[in-house]
Amino acid sequence: MSRRINRVATVSVHTSPLDQPGTGDAGGMNVYIVEVAKRLAARGVEVDIFTRATCRAMPPVIELAPGVLVRNVVAGPFEELDKTELPRHLCGFTSGILRVEAAHDPGHYDLLHTHYWLSGQAGWAAKQRWGVPLVHSMHTMAKVKNAALAEGDKAEPVERVLGEEQVVASSDQLIANTDKEARELVELYGADPARVATVSPGVDLSLFRPESPLLARGAGLLPHRTGPARRRLGLPRDAYVLLFVGRIQPLKAPDVLLRAVARMLDDDPALRAKLVVAVVGGPSGSGRCRPEGLQNLAAELGITDVMRFEPPSPQEELADWYRAADVTVVPSHSESFGLVAVESQACGTPVVASRVGGLCTAVADGESGVLIPGHDPADYAAVLRRLYAEPGLHARLARGAVRHGQSFGWDATVDDLLEVYTGAMSIPAVRVAAPAEVSA
Ligand code: UDP
Repeated sequence: MSRRINRVATVSVHTSPLDQPGTGDAGGMNVYIVEVAKRLAARGVEVDIFTRATCRAMPPVIELAPGVLVRNVVAGPFEELDKTELPRHLCGFTSGILRVEAAHDPGHYDLLHTHYWLSGQAGWAAKQRWGVPLVHSMHTMAKVKNAALAEGDKAEPVERVLGEEQVVASSDQLIANTDKEARELVELYGADPARVATVSPGVDLSLFRPESPLLARGAGLLPHRTGPARRRLGLPRDAYVLLFVGRIQPLKAPDVLLRAVARMLDDDPALRAKLVVAVVGGPSGSGRCRPEGLQNLAAELGITDVMRFEPPSPQEELADWYRAADVTVVPSHSESFGLVAVESQACGTPVVASRVGGLCTAVADGESGVLIPGHDPADYAAVLRRLYAEPGLHARLARGAVRHGQSFGWDATVDDLLEVYTGAMSIPAVRVAAPAEVSA
């Protein structure tokens, strides 16, 4: 018989659940960890989230929500470190986690859920010490990322590949965001298919919903786009608004949207009076895809007058951006899921995205948006012009977007995760492989 799960240790070494998503290393994973932890706690499962302390003034323990504690473990300097520098502080981080557990009665944690390979490495050691199951979510995988590098993007190092292989070999359960990711875990990392479960991430359906009750019911045309969100954001009622949301980095390819816009304006100069292109998010990594690099690109392309660059925003404000936009564009080179795409659809705004990774699940091609193979700006320009010229098509996709987007909720994610957790508690633990057994 399986034991009840009372307390989960969640590990997120390289980015804190308290960070603002949409900039630096904070993105969908942070949102995932916070939303899942809050809902687990509401169901009586307490969650301690371990992260690396990046500020001396930060207390060691912060209550994020009732039943959810953030534990700031001191390991390495009190400053943001590049992910490539974190492996050398993992030993200190892991011993910090072990010390916290040792201060409690034995059996304080029932299960470990680690996020991203660096956390998996810490979980690998803690699992053996505590004798609890290790559940791991990759979020992104070096082998997948390296196969789809954007120009100017650095390849993920072999240390990460090896580290990921070790974590896969040591985990009792692996969580994939999509069936495609589950297959990649098996085919690229040699994961045991019996230990891989697909659990779809979600969106906060109380926040991400259409402005118009008519659209929410799947009826009507598009009255929401002339509603309060546009007024609040100072956008003209009759504008054609294209939106990019996310970390500004080569992998997310916001430059493809800018180049597509330049093409649209070349083909139809009259559109300039109507078009607004909003980019919401902050820098992540280096290179020309930083916000200032994008602003320079906009100037080079002669489209500065249609652009609005906005800093990373809380999700309440993002919901307004999604509702105010006609189309959200997600031209990423690689995406393990793409929460932005689902949030936009849940607000009734269709998505034009690249046909990669999790976006093939996050967007229902032809029903809630359009998936485009490759990253040729001309292809994006053609689809975006068509959606402008054909309001009937746009309205149909907007209705489909609500249906598809609203089918992803965090409560369903937590239902599925609890099932995986319960399963992990009742199956024999994997024998942890010695590093030499893991293939290079
Ligand atoms: N996000 C945010 N504010 C911003 C930009 C993004 O809160 O200004 C959030 C967004 O709502 C989404 C997450 O960051 O939940 C990005 O997740 P996604 O899966 O799209 O991309 P990732 O960052 O994980 O690559």
